[in-house]
Amino acid sequence: MAAKLKVNKELCIGCGACVTAFPDAFVFDNDGKGECVKEVANPDEVKSTCPVTAIAD
Ligand code: SF4
Repeated sequence: MAAKLKVNKELCIGCGACVTAFPDAFVFDNDGKGECVKEVANPDEVKSTCPVTAIAD
């Protein structure tokens, strides 16, 4: 099911993997952390791209 995901900014290290892999859904916020700005159709795949498991429902 499509869902907009949340990034735990405390955990995020700003590596950019989510932005690189899903550039239409993820951007960097003003602090250089990942931010989900659009619903994704494959939330499990998206979550698995984060090396510190900062992306969650
Ligand atoms: S992949 Fe994870 S650690 Fe890297 S920028 Fe995205 S949310 Fe942050």
